[in-house]
Amino acid sequence: GSERKSRGKTPGFLTFDDIGGQDRAKGELKEALDFLIRYDDIKKLGIRPLKGILLTGPPGTGKTLMAKAAAHYTNSVFLAASGSEFVEMYVGVGASRIRDLFKEARSRAVKENKESAIVFIDEIDVIGGKRDGGQHREYDQTLNQLLTEMDGIHTSDTPRVLIVAATNRKEMLDGALLRPGRFDRHIEVDLPDKKGRLHILNIHAKNKPLAEGVDLDAIARETFHFSGAQLESVMNEAAIYAMRDESDAIGQQHLSLAVDKVMLGEKTDRESNK
Ligand code: ATP
Repeated sequence: GSERKSRGKTPGFLTFDDIGGQDRAKGELKEALDFLIRYDDIKKLGIRPLKGILLTGPPGTGKTLMAKAAAHYTNSVFLAASGSEFVEMYVGVGASRIRDLFKEARSRAVKENKESAIVFIDEIDVIGGKRDGGQHREYDQTLNQLLTEMDGIHTSDTPRVLIVAATNRKEMLDGALLRPGRFDRHIEVDLPDKKGRLHILNIHAKNKPLAEGVDLDAIARETFHFSGAQLESVMNEAAIYAMRDESDAIGQQHLSLAVDKVMLGEKTDRESNK
């Protein structure tokens, strides 16, 4: 009934409209995904399946959001792992974790009646860094297993598995990962420009009361070089400043203070700590 409707979207359910700015990156990603969706044509024409998409760019620009939106867009199940999870693992454990990840992707797709799965691997550089004379053997095995899984994906496979990986250090990646048939599609997810920053601020202002006349455009201008994650913090910190003021709406002064706070990073906030 109405209660269900008012709850809105399923939690964790994310679309491209929830990502601010990044018009070019979103366009490129959708284009690649459209290609993936045209499964029958791909098969008929004997086109090599798209297996891996690499998202590159600085931290906090929305790479994880893009991978989630890609899963929604293609009606795929979504699984995520991070390269850093594998750091402390014993030799061989990383490799079997990769194997399990792909197994789980396939079985979840079958269970949920979906034709495809997207496996997201954040910080791929941690396991996919350049191999230098066997120095990092445990990562080598993990990387090799990932390559084996990717090579084992065929056009006729159902459910289809697509790997989306993210890194902010593309130059560190082992050439083996970038070969055709592996991560051969690269999409740059860069820091937002002013228009993108305004879009992101608006997205994160949606569930917050703004005082009359608040000028988010001015905030977008002041936040040169901010990432999406930092802009999200600005909106959140501004709401906290409003609460301290016993104000029921966020005013321009709260936003300006929040910009300063985020710009200074984790520096001590005098008011709250002294
Ligand atoms: P990292 O490289 O650190 O993993 P990332 O590029 O994957 O970062 P996300 O995890 O996607 O970044 O973004 C972190 C948070 O920042 C998001 O949950 C969201 O709140 C906010 N954010 C980042 N980019 C955007 C954007 N383009 N639009 C809206 N929100 C964004």
